[in-house]
Amino acid sequence: RFGLKDYFALNLMPKLPGLYSEEALAYTDLKYTEPEYQAILLSHIHYDHVAHIGFVDESIPVLLGETTLRMLESWETTGRMGFGSHAYYTFRTGDVITIDDIEVEPIHVDHSTPASYGFVIYTSEGAIVYTGDLRMHGPKAEMTEDFIERAKEAEPIALICEGTRVMPEEKRTNMSEREVFEYCNRVIASAKKLVLTCFYPRDVDRMKTFHELAKRNKRKFVVSTKVAHLLETLVNDPGIEVPSPLRDENMLIYVREMNRYFEWEKEFINSSKAIDAEYVNKHQHKLILHLDFTNFTELIDIRPEPGSEFIHSMSEPFEEGDIEEEVKNNWLRYFNLRKHQAHASGHCSMEEIFWLVEEISPKLVFPVHTEYAEMFSGCDCKVVIPEKNKGYKC
Ligand SMILES: [Zn+2]
Ligand SMILES: [Zn+2]
Repeated sequence: RFGLKDYFALNLMPKLPGLYSEEALAYTDLKYTEPEYQAILLSHIHYDHVAHIGFVDESIPVLLGETTLRMLESWETTGRMGFGSHAYYTFRTGDVITIDDIEVEPIHVDHSTPASYGFVIYTSEGAIVYTGDLRMHGPKAEMTEDFIERAKEAEPIALICEGTRVMPEEKRTNMSEREVFEYCNRVIASAKKLVLTCFYPRDVDRMKTFHELAKRNKRKFVVSTKVAHLLETLVNDPGIEVPSPLRDENMLIYVREMNRYFEWEKEFINSSKAIDAEYVNKHQHKLILHLDFTNFTELIDIRPEPGSEFIHSMSEPFEEGDIEEEVKNNWLRYFNLRKHQAHASGHCSMEEIFWLVEEISPKLVFPVHTEYAEMFSGCDCKVVIPEKNKGYKC
């Protein structure tokens, strides 16, 4: 609504002159001025890291991983997001990007979406390291190790460090991806009815886990046209191995009953893999259906047998009384579905973050992406809690 007007009113976005487009600023009190930024670096595809690119002046180029660009394009095609027609330049680990006088080195990290990066930024005053979002217990843990190694070598003056799981008490259960597989395998192996699951479509590791679970349990893994589009986009990506919903014998594509369909959906709707709610209803014990929260209304047409399994394979809400959680639970209760929780976090635990900070040993650490920045005092390093609209010198 009205570009950045509400974001500024609620202090959700910084008022930085020379960053935003004329259109985004039209209804705000910040006057449009010529761009003052040379580039935007994107660490990975997650909403909290890319969603506002659409507000940025389109003449400012955007730098991102090759796979991130592919996923971004699929997202733009199949969703309502618009990221703007910037010049997009892709990078990969090992590249050194020159932006004016500084050099930036992107280094892969393991996270809950592919093509996630941290950065080492070499300035005349010394190196600045940004972690992006990262984990050490995932299937590609060695990537995070590479990043830490490189960050250490840079002897940074500052480390901008994520702290999602830095908190007084972690109530949510966290598994490794392997443990998610084992747990879900037990649920599915003994299931006699439909198996439903809900997780972020861009969590490609989880996609692969459920594809494997389906195969192991002689069921078909059913995904939406949107997810099918994302997976087909990634099938040709040399760095990633994903199943093709159009060709893989263990997959089917769920087509919602609609009055009209989008152009991009047609190749899926017209494929031999397309199935509808009636098909799911008739083959409940043979399927694992990935169902996004926004598509829960499909349950009305699918009519799952009471006692069907529902595997919630994403993070649990931060606190009790979460509205989305309540709505989900109401659906599950109405259809009498049995709920299971199985998730591997995309983030390091607090202990791992503290270890990482001490290992990289920067002059200063700036906690970000956390609700408990002050808890970084628990690690052996000088901590600066960043404040809005304030510049820092190391
Ligand atoms: Zn993330
Ligand atoms: Zn994030």
